[in-house]
Amino acid sequence: MKYISSQNLVKLIHHVGLKTFLIELSNIIEEDYKRWNKFDKSPRYVHHSEYGVNELMPTSDQELFSFKYVNGHPNNFNKHLQTVVAFGVLCDVKTGYPVLLSEMNIGTALRTAAMSALAAKYLCNKNAKTMGMIGAGCQAEFQAHAFRAINNISSIKIYDIDPKVSEKFLSNMAGTGFNITICKPPQEAIENVDIITTCTADKQYATILTDNMVGQGVHINAIGGDCPGKTELHPDILSRGRVFVEYEPQSRIEGEIQQMPEDFNVTEIYKVIQSGENTRKSLREITIFDSVGLQYRIFHSCATST
Ligand code: NAD
Repeated sequence: MKYISSQNLVKLIHHVGLKTFLIELSNIIEEDYKRWNKFDKSPRYVHHSEYGVNELMPTSDQELFSFKYVNGHPNNFNKHLQTVVAFGVLCDVKTGYPVLLSEMNIGTALRTAAMSALAAKYLCNKNAKTMGMIGAGCQAEFQAHAFRAINNISSIKIYDIDPKVSEKFLSNMAGTGFNITICKPPQEAIENVDIITTCTADKQYATILTDNMVGQGVHINAIGGDCPGKTELHPDILSRGRVFVEYEPQSRIEGEIQQMPEDFNVTEIYKVIQSGENTRKSLREITIFDSVGLQYRIFHSCATST
C-alpha cells in the first residue's frame, strides 16, 4: 500500500509545479464528472458532538472504493492541536485491499480549488480577469492559484475581517505575478470584479454577501458554507442567479441552498460539464457555484504520480 504524507505531497507539487498539478487535477475531476453515473455516491456521514464534527465522505466505482475522513474541532487551536486532520483511503474493489493512504489536508485544499476553477470555466464570463475574495485564510491562496492556472485570472481584490490574514495572503503571494489589492470595507473587494469567491469560516448563517452588493454578470464561487447551519450568501442572491451544485442530495443539507425551499431549482454541475460548453446565458446573468465538497479520484491521481 502506498502512503502519501503531507511532506511527500508538497514534494510532489514542487516536482510537478503547482500550476501543472492544478491543471492536471482539474482535468481528472472533469473526466470524473463526464462519467458521473458510474459512481456510487451518497451524502457524507456526519457526527456532531460538543467538541466538533467528524465526517466520512465515500465515493466509489467498479474499480476503486474511496473515502475521506475529516474533522472540525475549533477548540483544538487552544490546545496547540490541529483543528482539521484529514486523510483518505483508496481500495481496490476486486480484492478489497487498501492501495493508498493519503493525507487530505493539503489534498482537500487542492481539490476544492481545482473544482472551483473547473466550475468557473463552465459558468463565468469568458473574458474574466479579476476575482474579488472575501476570506483570506487557508483556502484562499489555493483558490487564487487555481483560478490563475485554469481561468487566467490575473487580479485579486481581497478582504478579511482580520487584516493580518490579508497581509499574510499578500506576502505569501508575492512574486506570483498577481495584481493584488487588499480592500476595506468588503464592498470594495467585490466592486467591478468578474468572479467573487467567498471562503470564510464561521459556523452560523452568516451573510457575507447581500443582494445589493452583487453586480450583474458576476460568477459567485461560494465555498465557505459547507455544513448544516453554515452559509455565506443572502437567499435573495440565490433567487436572483442560477445555482449549480456538486451533488444535490448533499447540497440540500449542507450548501447555501439549505436556506431555500425544497423545490428550489438547482443544476448539478456534471450536466454542464458533460455538455462541454460554457452555460452562461448572457453577460448579465449571475451564476453561483454552491460548493460543499465531494471526493473524486484525487487519491488515484496521486497514487499514479508517485
Ligand atoms: P480559515 O479559518 O483558514 O480562513 C477563514 C477566514 O475567513 C479567516 O481568515 C477569517 O478571518 C475570515 N472571515 C471570517 N468571517 C469573515 C467575514 N465575515 N468577512 C471576511 N472574512 C471573514 O478557513 P479555510 O480553511 O480558508 O476555509 C474557509 C471555509 O471553506 C471554511 O468554512 C471551510 O469549512 C470551507 N471549505 C469548504 C470546502 C468545499 O469544498 N466547499 C473545502 C474546504 C474548506
